[in-house]
Amino acid sequence: MTKRVGFIGLGDIGWPMAAHVAQAYDCTVWNRTIEKANAFAEENKATAADSPAGVVAASEVVITCLPTSKEVLDVVEQAGDAWAAGQLLIDCTSGDPAGSKQVAEFLRARGVGFADAPVSGGVGGAERGELTVMIGGTDEDAARAIHVVDCFAKKAEHVGPVGAGHAVKAINQGLLAVNIQAAAEGLAALVKLGVSGKKALEVINASSGRSNVTENLFPNRVTNRQWPRTFRLALLDKDVGIAVKILEDNHVPSDAIGTAGRAFSEARKILGEEADHVEFVKVIEAKAGVEIQ
Ligand code: NDP
Repeated sequence: MTKRVGFIGLGDIGWPMAAHVAQAYDCTVWNRTIEKANAFAEENKATAADSPAGVVAASEVVITCLPTSKEVLDVVEQAGDAWAAGQLLIDCTSGDPAGSKQVAEFLRARGVGFADAPVSGGVGGAERGELTVMIGGTDEDAARAIHVVDCFAKKAEHVGPVGAGHAVKAINQGLLAVNIQAAAEGLAALVKLGVSGKKALEVINASSGRSNVTENLFPNRVTNRQWPRTFRLALLDKDVGIAVKILEDNHVPSDAIGTAGRAFSEARKILGEEADHVEFVKVIEAKAGVEIQ
């Protein structure tokens, strides 16, 4: 039975996920900005390590939650000889399938298992321990991973071999981006026609065009003019880029997701690296010359 679980990457979503890990396991954490790891260890029953190797050496299972697969490969390689046969890396980054295969190969050569295990449900879902986790890997690695991520998940599913979790997550993010763009455009037009954004959402949310975007993101943030930073727009732009590549590699049309991808890349240039993903709506509002209220 797993007792010691390490966590690398205490960002917006990594922190609340790691807090659940620290409640369930003996937990060692590392974060690039080391002050955050120290603050986490003070707030939670956890130990702060001063390097990725320190986390790996102290843990049977290690979880990563970093921006992209590139940073995951970097920290996995930095830990180098600290990896030991029988360990498992669970990568909760929204990474890319090719990157996860590279990480898996590096670890397999050392007898270490790997599961890509990206999450959905946002910071709120992470705080409540209600994330959805989509897992790629062998049957054995996925079963071990499901057991560990249970501490922050309400649903964890093995969806296929290494990289399949990241592929499912990327397509989910493509759908999220399409929904945000479409809702922003549609509601901007309705407001210009004199329909209040709140009223339009109330009706749409009792109709067939509703989605998580119209039911949650727009009522809680756009029409209330609240823009909390929970998920950086830059990360969604990265995710949609992965989705488009998956579509192109598989010779599937990418018109809808590709269009949203270009719009999010443009918004990232306008709003910068720290903007939240819902602030994308501000770019549509500026072009339309209207606020969705
Ligand atoms: P943040 O940008 O808030 O945090 C990123 C984390 O990665 C920080 O701990 C940061 O350290 C660390 N980091 C960045 N670059 C490096 C590097 N070169 N080497 C080592 N560590 C590095 O991201 P989130 O927590 O929001 O997201 C993490 C992953 O989870 C992403 O792949 C994202 O797409 C995904 N995700 C996020 C969700 C959300 O709602 N936020 C929802 C679902 C998935 P430092 O503190 O030093 O900057």
